[in-house]
Amino acid sequence: MQDGNSIDRMLNRRSLLGYSLTGLAAMAMPAGLLAQGNGIRKLNNRISLLSNGGVNQVAFDAGDGIVLVDSGAEENTDLLKSALDSLDQGPVHTLLNTHWHPQQVGGNAMLKSQGARIIAHQKTLQRLSTRYYLPHENRYQEPLAELSWPTDIFHERGELQSSAETIDYGWLVQPHTDGDIYVHFRQANVLAAGDAVSPLLDPELDWYGGGWLGGRVNSLDMLVAMSNPDTQIVPAVGPVMSQAELIKERDLMQEVYNRVLDMVREGCSAGCMLQEGALAGLERSWQDPDKFLYAAYKGMWAHHYNLAPNIL
Ligand SMILES: [Zn+2]
Repeated sequence: MQDGNSIDRMLNRRSLLGYSLTGLAAMAMPAGLLAQGNGIRKLNNRISLLSNGGVNQVAFDAGDGIVLVDSGAEENTDLLKSALDSLDQGPVHTLLNTHWHPQQVGGNAMLKSQGARIIAHQKTLQRLSTRYYLPHENRYQEPLAELSWPTDIFHERGELQSSAETIDYGWLVQPHTDGDIYVHFRQANVLAAGDAVSPLLDPELDWYGGGWLGGRVNSLDMLVAMSNPDTQIVPAVGPVMSQAELIKERDLMQEVYNRVLDMVREGCSAGCMLQEGALAGLERSWQDPDKFLYAAYKGMWAHHYNLAPNIL
C-alpha cells in the first residue's frame, strides 16, 4: 500500500545508507536502479526484471510476445511502456497480477487495451470490481473500470506452457492480502513472489485485505519448498533474493509470529507489544515497528479461529 513516492524516498534513503541495514548488506542491487527506482536488468537470457517507480515487474520473452508479471502503478504506465518498447520482444500477450494493490494493477487497462489477457486470483477480480473500505484512510476505494479487470481468474493454481518454459502460478494463502499469488518460471528458475516477501521495506500485512502473520509464514514455507539454492526470487519491491535469504526471512517471520501469538494470548494489546519486546533482538531493522505490530495484532484477531496451540 506504499505509494510510489514513498518507495522512491525509501530507495534513495537506502542508497545513502549504503544498505547498512542488517540482512541487506549481501543483497546486490544496481546503483542506478537503487538511486532512481527505475531500470531494466536481465535475470537470464529470456527474463528481464523491470523496475518502474521502485516496483518490480518480471518480463518473460515467450518468443511470440511477452508474459509479464504485474503492471506497476498507474502513474508509471509511460515508464512501463518505454521499458517494454526497449525490450523489443513483441506485445505483452499475457499479464499476471500478483495481487490487487494499485502498484500491481495500474497498467492493466493499457495492456488489456493492446490485447493482453490478464490472469489473477478470483479475489483480485472481486477487489478491482467492488467498492471496499480502507480503515487506515477512513474511506472507500472505488472499483476500477472494467478495462482493468482480470480476464482469467483462478482459485488454487494454474499453468502456462510456452516454448522452453513452464510457468506455474498459484495462490499464496494470505501473506499480504487475500489475493496474493506466486508465478514460477520453472526452467528459468525465477520465482515472482509479489509482496509476500519483503527484503527492503517492512513486511506489510494488509489485515483488512486478508493478510496476516500466519498466512505470511505459511506462504514463505511454500515459496521455500518450490525454490532451490539457485532460484532468483523477485519481490514486489527491493532486490532479487536467494533461497538462503528467503529462508532467513521465513525463520524471522516464524519467530515474530510465535512472539505475537503468545502476547495476544496473554492479552497484550498492539500498543504493549513493542514495549514487551515483540521485535527485540531480531536480525532486521523496522522503519515503522508500531504500524507493523498494529497490523500483526489486527490480523491475528481477524484470524482468531486459527489461534489454536498447534496452528498450521
Ligand atoms: Zn501490495
